[in-house]
Amino acid sequence: MSDANPFRSLPSVTDVLAVPDLQSVLADEPRELLVEAIRAELALVRERLKAGENLDGQATAEVLAQAAAARLRKQVEPKLRRVINATGIVLHTNLGRAPMADAAADAARDAAGGYLNLELDLETGKRSSRQDAIREWVCRLTGAEAATAVNNNAAATVIVLRALCQGKEVIVSRGQLVEIGGSFRIPDIMAVSGAVLREVGTTNITRLRDYEAAITPNTAALLQVHCSNYRVRGFTESVPLADLVALGRKHNVPVIDDVGSGALIDYARFGFDGEPLARDSVAAGADVVLFSGDKLMGGPQAGLIAGARAHIQRIEKDPLMRAFRLDKMTLAALEATLRLYLDEGRALRDVPTLRMLATPLAELERRARRLAEQLAALPGVASADAVSDVAFVGGGSLPDQTCPAWVVEVKAADVSDEELALRLRRHQPAVLGRLRDGKLVLDVRTVFEAQEAALVAAVASSI
Ligand SMILES: *Cc1c(COP(=O)(O)O)cnc(C)c1O
Repeated sequence: MSDANPFRSLPSVTDVLAVPDLQSVLADEPRELLVEAIRAELALVRERLKAGENLDGQATAEVLAQAAAARLRKQVEPKLRRVINATGIVLHTNLGRAPMADAAADAARDAAGGYLNLELDLETGKRSSRQDAIREWVCRLTGAEAATAVNNNAAATVIVLRALCQGKEVIVSRGQLVEIGGSFRIPDIMAVSGAVLREVGTTNITRLRDYEAAITPNTAALLQVHCSNYRVRGFTESVPLADLVALGRKHNVPVIDDVGSGALIDYARFGFDGEPLARDSVAAGADVVLFSGDKLMGGPQAGLIAGARAHIQRIEKDPLMRAFRLDKMTLAALEATLRLYLDEGRALRDVPTLRMLATPLAELERRARRLAEQLAALPGVASADAVSDVAFVGGGSLPDQTCPAWVVEVKAADVSDEELALRLRRHQPAVLGRLRDGKLVLDVRTVFEAQEAALVAAVASSI
């Protein structure tokens, strides 16, 4: 056919839809989306023709069908994909923070795919509270009298301040007016909750008498916020929790302690210091203690609230509880995670966050050397060397402390470090590392051993 008018010889959507290769696509994907993809490809061809390109036989129904199928496949790919985390950052907020224990993932899956006694007491057959699933475990692990849980620690902060302090003043040290990230700032949270922020002290020094001088009949609480993601060093002074509690008792004002990261076991064993334990906070007499479920605890995203029964009851009666409460999958995963902690040895073995942090350096070195050897053997890899390094824990915790690490530094023969990183991000599963001095750095601590083969395969197909 002569192409006197190339536009006129373009196939129609119906022509393209009739191409035999597309019938299997039609079996899997909605026709509407396929039609959309064909239209998009046709529009592209028209643009090219308009720009004067000679498409000479390239704009056939078959060619367009293939292009449309590729476009559609890309379009319907899930947005959330598996990632192999080779950054060494155990709690990588952009990668979903804590990977959950198998028991927790199983519990979430079971809860998701069936029915469960979410709000039903199986003994009495009567309605119960969904919080019963975690109350006893949190109390046991923290020593608190009562407990409840919401969607995250940000929500916990809002609901605690609202339920206990709305319309009244809350005293906070200026050294603790933190921004956790993503515009979650204590002063803003205070405003949202309807409590009035009463700042005392200075950035570096706050003394007990600063708190005491600020207490009035309108004071609803003394709030301590753990400086999870920063440290104030040098000429500094803050008030120990026990002193704050004594002051609160004297004036009949409750103390709220936002411990943030929610370590349930002492992180000193991993060589980190300064992470408060919820248990210590309860023992020191804090009336309400808040912490995250998916930071150092290593569970699902959640905000745990432990404390005196009267306070917990008020919090649960707050109308926001309905909006902030956990769904069945998260609750199931949270309960399973908490139960692992009933036996510390089991938690260390089964909670991935703890297991990764507890991996001996010699073991990391062995894994890095093994990975380096496999990568170096790939055609297209110029060099792959195991070297010792340092890494951060992440997740807005332990900001000033690194842990020793072993990494593999990879250099491709013909691909730049940035291009290699891009291809690895596009790979399925995606692989995320770090870039340094023109090399791709893969930290083995956060790579599950079962993912090592997939990691090597991803690099092999990206160079
Ligand atoms: C992380 C953190 C929060 C916010 O917790 P999310 O669970 O991320 O909402 C609040 N307070 C402190 C002190 C924190 O460290």
